[in-house]
Amino acid sequence: MKRTRNTVQRRAVLEAVRSLGASGAHPTAADVFAEVRCHCPHLSLATVYRALHALVEQREIGETRIENVARYDASPDPHHHVICRSCGAVADVFASLPPLAVRRLSEASSFALDTHAINFNGTCPGCQATSSSAAAVPASAA
Ligand SMILES: [Zn+2]
Ligand SMILES: [Zn+2]
Repeated sequence: MKRTRNTVQRRAVLEAVRSLGASGAHPTAADVFAEVRCHCPHLSLATVYRALHALVEQREIGETRIENVARYDASPDPHHHVICRSCGAVADVFASLPPLAVRRLSEASSFALDTHAINFNGTCPGCQATSSSAAAVPASAA
């Protein structure tokens, strides 16, 4: 009985991560909670946390930390993220580091490395356009 209820709750949480992630979003637990509550108003935040944790363990979803906050990822496959410093947008990047770079990191740390996922910070195309158009406007000479 308990197992069945857990399965239903887990599925509702998985669907919330996938529907939020469909637009490229990397929702926080609070975002997932808000989404899931539309369909399952009785679900508690603690249940959502437990379900998220179980789904990460089962590799149904991914988890990454951005500015020290756990963010959930509809894609469980290892990938990198680019994060906009201006608006906080997060996008997925599926690309591997050159094997030589991984070998150097492995040698430098004495770790046997099998996967990597890196967060890069910068400025997204939208914010670049905004800042360059702002820069293009001549400063008022009063
Ligand atoms: Zn931006
Ligand atoms: Zn991602």
